[in-house]
Amino acid sequence: MPAAGPDDTAGGRPGAAARDGAPGGAAQDALRGILGAEALLTGAACEPYLVDQRGLYRGRALGVALPRSVAQVSRLLALCNAQRIGVVPHGGNTGYCGGATPDESGRQLVLSLARLNRIRSVDPANDSLIAEAGCILAQVQEAASQAQRLFPLSLGSEGSCQIGGNLSTNAGGTSVLRYGMMRDLVLGLEVVLADGRVLSSLSGLRKDNTGYDIRGLFLGAEGTLGVITAASLKLFPQIASTATAFAAVADVRAAVTLLARLRAASGERVSSFELIPRIGIELTTQHIPGVTDPLGASHAWYVLCELSSARAAEPLAAILTEVLGAALDDGLVLDAALAGSERERAALWRLRETIPAAQRKQGAGLKHDISVPLSALPEFVARGSSWVSTHVPGARLVAYGHVGDGNLHFNLSETQGAVRGELTARAAEVQRALHDLAVSLGGSFSAEHGIGRLKVAELERYAPATELELMRAVKRAFDPHGIMNPGKVLRAAPADRDER
Ligand SMILES: Cc1cc2nc3c(=O)[nH]c(=O)nc-3n(C[C@H](O)[C@H](O)[C@H](O)COP(=O)(O)OP(=O)(O)OC[C@H]3O[C@@H](n4cnc5c(N)ncnc54)[C@H](O)[C@@H]3O)c2cc1C
Repeated sequence: MPAAGPDDTAGGRPGAAARDGAPGGAAQDALRGILGAEALLTGAACEPYLVDQRGLYRGRALGVALPRSVAQVSRLLALCNAQRIGVVPHGGNTGYCGGATPDESGRQLVLSLARLNRIRSVDPANDSLIAEAGCILAQVQEAASQAQRLFPLSLGSEGSCQIGGNLSTNAGGTSVLRYGMMRDLVLGLEVVLADGRVLSSLSGLRKDNTGYDIRGLFLGAEGTLGVITAASLKLFPQIASTATAFAAVADVRAAVTLLARLRAASGERVSSFELIPRIGIELTTQHIPGVTDPLGASHAWYVLCELSSARAAEPLAAILTEVLGAALDDGLVLDAALAGSERERAALWRLRETIPAAQRKQGAGLKHDISVPLSALPEFVARGSSWVSTHVPGARLVAYGHVGDGNLHFNLSETQGAVRGELTARAAEVQRALHDLAVSLGGSFSAEHGIGRLKVAELERYAPATELELMRAVKRAFDPHGIMNPGKVLRAAPADRDER
């Protein structure tokens, strides 16, 4: 680990970057010297890297670096560290919190991992593969599949998000219930530290109790501690059978009870359990071509549930039918449809996965990525819905998500014809109420999307003081000059913010 040196002109404060001298032409020349001229984008060519996925932030940049090797990343970081140039790692830019977007100073360097995109090796006997950080998630899933294995991380953005981004945000998705979050799917990492040194633990060990879990600190660090260049990832047996159902449930409590019943009846075979509100169907059928309502009659809440197994002969459809049938008799389930083919299954998942896109097409919205213990979920939804209808009557609540993990995207959408900007002007007030509610029920204000730039103040509000203090100490230890993704996760020190 790097130690803070005596020449620490930034005083070891997080975020103390890019203020000693103005990087510009000379810095760009030095970067070109490392990367080659065509691998440093400047001017208008940087444009696609300067706006975050949701359009919340627009930054400026000294340039966009597109290194092809770990050695280039190492030299580049050593240079930036020496010249106090802030570095913003950039994956697929699908993150929801502005973490991959540079600030407005024009003094930060965006470091895209897109060209570090090789699957270095697949080891079926060890059930692992090594992927470079710029591999698209779908590419890793495909490499696993070619080796008759499964890489289970699955997100709506899997066609464009990168493994480095998934690791750095500790991504969740639709299979967490069974396989865990990204943190649970990692055996080792290769990371370039702020000063250019390379840490590597890619041997694929499942057991390695040798002191502090340094590697674990980079997972969910959102590029603030170093640049992940490769990872050894866990593989699992391929799925040989699935059964998927779309069911209307009486209410959120019924959904939670149904999940418990499915788990009891099928053991570890419940791989996904997603809650979808009526408005999710209305928005997707209206805005996404080809999406249809699977049930026809209108109900307030639905679940999309999937059982899966590595055994082809597993009676999953029978288990699902039996549990849903009993739940229908008990009034927990009001209607249900089983996918009869892969095409029907894909259509159900398309409905679920296009809710964010449909919500975007509907107009402005507010997003809240909360989690609570599963037992508290019905209370959160009841109290949160009531708060929204009382305080923001003009907005439409779009609450959906990975309910099997207690994770809801408790979003609000502008109604059509609403005065533009009226809803977003109230973002802070709405967020405060909903985050306070989640935390009061033992939950989190950031279940799977991370902190980025968007939730820095929220982290300060809700994290215990001791935890924050330790996070700042970790940041100083790894990045004494504060060059790594300044202002993300932890606030940049006030003096530095003023300068940039
Ligand atoms: C349609 C849609 C559905 C989504 N569904 C889910 C979901 O179900 N679950 C979920 O968790 N998220 C979801 N997301 C959010 C997003 O896809 C994830 O956060 C994803 O992991 C981000 O990966 P990325 O490569 O796009 O990272 P980016 O957005 O490029 O970056 C995210 C953060 O990671 C840092 N970073 C990127 N690469 C590296 C690296 N190599 N080393 C160090 N730091 C790095 C960046 O600086 C930034 O702070 C969804 C997004 C969309 C658009």
